[in-house]
Amino acid sequence: MTFDKLEIIEPILKAIEAKGYTHPTPIQEKSIPILLRKRDLLGCAQTGTGKTAAFAIPILQHIYNDSTAERGRRRIKALVVTPTRELAIQIKDNFSEYGKYTGIKNTVIFGGVKQGAQTKALNVGVDILIATPGRLLDLIGQGYISLRDVKYFVLDEADQMLDMGFIHDIRKIIDMLPKRRQSLFFSATMPPKIVSLAGKILGNPDRVTIRPEQTTAEKVGQSLYYVSKKAKPKLLVFLLKTEEVESTLVFSRTKHGADKVVKGLNKAGIQAEAIHGNKSQNARQLALSNFKNGTTKVLVATDIAARGIDVSELALVVNYDLPNIPETYIHRIGRTGRASASGNAISFCDVEEKPYLKDIQKLIKQDIEVVTEHPFLPGGVEDNAVSEVKPDRHRQQSRSSKSSNSRYSNSSKSSNSGSKDWRRGNSTSRKRPQKKSE
Ligand code: AMP
Repeated sequence: MTFDKLEIIEPILKAIEAKGYTHPTPIQEKSIPILLRKRDLLGCAQTGTGKTAAFAIPILQHIYNDSTAERGRRRIKALVVTPTRELAIQIKDNFSEYGKYTGIKNTVIFGGVKQGAQTKALNVGVDILIATPGRLLDLIGQGYISLRDVKYFVLDEADQMLDMGFIHDIRKIIDMLPKRRQSLFFSATMPPKIVSLAGKILGNPDRVTIRPEQTTAEKVGQSLYYVSKKAKPKLLVFLLKTEEVESTLVFSRTKHGADKVVKGLNKAGIQAEAIHGNKSQNARQLALSNFKNGTTKVLVATDIAARGIDVSELALVVNYDLPNIPETYIHRIGRTGRASASGNAISFCDVEEKPYLKDIQKLIKQDIEVVTEHPFLPGGVEDNAVSEVKPDRHRQQSRSSKSSNSRYSNSSKSSNSGSKDWRRGNSTSRKRPQKKSE
């Protein structure tokens, strides 16, 4: 299947070609025809599947085809609501790229920054607005935005909206939308609350589900390191120094934890920055652009802050802490192995995290391969005497070291199914992911 079979108009096809996309991803192949027929859509898919183009292309096409009669200032015809600022910016960039030959204008609004530049853009007039919920309601309240002319509405990452407590804001926004509209609803997971919210927004939708297994298990190399909590910082330094990966995204469960990891890495001479909700928007953007342009090789993020991170050729994801919500694991490892690339994910698991591991493996329907030999095995020599790490020294030592802690070494099914030595086990993570066409 190629894009021209999807009946996409010429100016958009040209932009897709300029992006270097040759084939639609599964969600694009399934959703674009439905959306071009102006049907409502309930999409179960995560970021990394190509879902932004799946909704942006048909919306641009509709607006392009409708646009003949408009006079005066442009009115907002499409509204995309998304939970985080990073994701909002990402979506805006996508609309700009896919729409660059259409003359359609968009802008993005989000909280945490002064509103002046945003209201200025709104006053000039835009066709498409991408927004986070709080700033959207704020600017509606101040009279800068009217939703009266919205014909296309997208609620993106609905499960994350719920987790972040945006449900009331979303309800308010929905109440302001015209009844006659096309609605698109995307969520990575579909728990009952999400299904009920979808029922309020959509009228008899078509459904598209892109199974997480398709995007994670098959494309991302995954491995697991049992390690005590106290040895995690050293193991991370050790792996980053030995793996020599170009770009690594490290996940921490908490903001404080992310800062601590960065401190530890910087102390060990590894350039790293943190990105989380306690940082100002400008600091987050700067950390992100440093990471994207390669100045910073390691970015340490919390789950919410990481939502919008879209870095092509992200080589490695490290789960420094295992997430307590199994779906989060899929979101995280989906940061590598995006659309057409392959990537690697390493997870650390301390004894308290074993229940989380069990839930994750149940969800992904596979056992993550355990690295059975590494210098920081729980109860091993290095675990007991965590000191300055020199990769070469550990390379020698790990050959003779054996785990003496049975709590870790024999209680996981995974250790039987597939196990590996860190020296060869992560050979895949040393490999750069397949080059993306972008
Ligand atoms: P998304 O899930 O929308 O965040 O997209 C994930 C990544 O895939 C982004 O970097 C997109 O630019 C890229 N992408 C989207 N569609 C395609 C495609 N058909 N071919 C190659 N890359 C794509």
